[in-house]
Amino acid sequence: MIERIAHDRIRFDGQRRIAYRVSGALGMLLILYAQFSILTDSDLSYLFRVTYAINHCALAGFSYWVIWALILGWPTLDQIERVMLGFFTFEAICFNSVLPLLFGQTLPTLFRETISGNIWFVLVICTLSIHLYSGRRGVIMALGIYLFSFAVAAGQVLMTDVYGQDNGIGVIVIQIYVMAGMLLGFLFVIARYRDHTQRLQVEYDLLEQMAFNDVLTGLPNRRMGYQVLQSQIALAQRGGHSLSICLWDIDHFKQINDTYGHEVGDIVLQALAEHLKSTMRLSDMLIRWGGEEFVVVLPETPLAAALIVADRLREAIARLPIERDVRATASFGVSCYDGIETLEQVLQRADKALYAAKAAGRNTVMPVLEYSK
Ligand code: GH3
Ligand code: MG
Ligand code: MG
Repeated sequence: MIERIAHDRIRFDGQRRIAYRVSGALGMLLILYAQFSILTDSDLSYLFRVTYAINHCALAGFSYWVIWALILGWPTLDQIERVMLGFFTFEAICFNSVLPLLFGQTLPTLFRETISGNIWFVLVICTLSIHLYSGRRGVIMALGIYLFSFAVAAGQVLMTDVYGQDNGIGVIVIQIYVMAGMLLGFLFVIARYRDHTQRLQVEYDLLEQMAFNDVLTGLPNRRMGYQVLQSQIALAQRGGHSLSICLWDIDHFKQINDTYGHEVGDIVLQALAEHLKSTMRLSDMLIRWGGEEFVVVLPETPLAAALIVADRLREAIARLPIERDVRATASFGVSCYDGIETLEQVLQRADKALYAAKAAGRNTVMPVLEYSK
């Protein structure tokens, strides 16, 4: 589950990178077009042209930086998005809200440059806020930016009215802002839904972890071990290859608990689990079967080879210094799947062998004594 979330995250990052590169390139084309229209419009004042040329240079430079930052992979995507949020907020306030007011533009230019231009910036800023600061903070930021921009747009319309020009534009502004508000509401619902499903995924992952893994050692527990063994039996039966099982149990563990305390007993279990896992092949599996009893699954391993592995593990346990003068030994019962029997029968034979190993004086490996057929 964790891998799936990580995988989704990588895919989402990739999609965002592509989206920003494409928007950066398109943005540069649009800026060129806007600059060209200003240059060819002889009605515009010199100050207006200079100011907007500076604005377009800033926008083009920023788009160029975003594209290169994405190609070079530095800074990180989140940092790029934060810079974008800051830049677009600055852009929306300075160039699309304050400057047009100062210039007292004609109504059509005001509409084109201010309201239509600003609403896109506002949408981008709000989307970035909800994405970067998901949850309540993102929504508050987005709402603040939206209302601020709405107030600026309303102010511009009112000022135009004061100048005695056509006020039909007020209705259009309201319409545009209502639509943008609805779009943002929709975006907010999606963001909430995404947060909710991510939380559910994490909770599910935790439950899965708790259901199939042992808390103390981190090893697969008996429930998971059972599933693994069932599928290994099926694989061995279908492929016709061997499968061995070692059941091992710590010797006189009760005595360790009684002498050094339960905490030290826990440390012994953890140390043995960690040490054995690191010495085993990746294809083999160590399971905490219960208490101080463990199972080692050895796929594609015949009995003779399994006995060698078991003896190596037994020696590793006996040699491992755990804490102060604490040492532990273990007894092993080994059985090999005969191709037709059930899982319970293989386990039963391993258990009998383990019992025999205990009876033979402990710290020893015993193969299966008899076949169940
Ligand atoms: P034998 O050599 O015959 O296996 O003797 P033993 O003392 O190991 O066996 P016994 O079954 O009498 O004792 C097992 C002990 O393991 C009893 C139980 O308290 C202890 N134990 C089981 N699970 C845990 C655990 O998670 N932590 C600790 N510290 N002790 C545990
Ligand atoms: Mg024991
Ligand atoms: Mg036991």
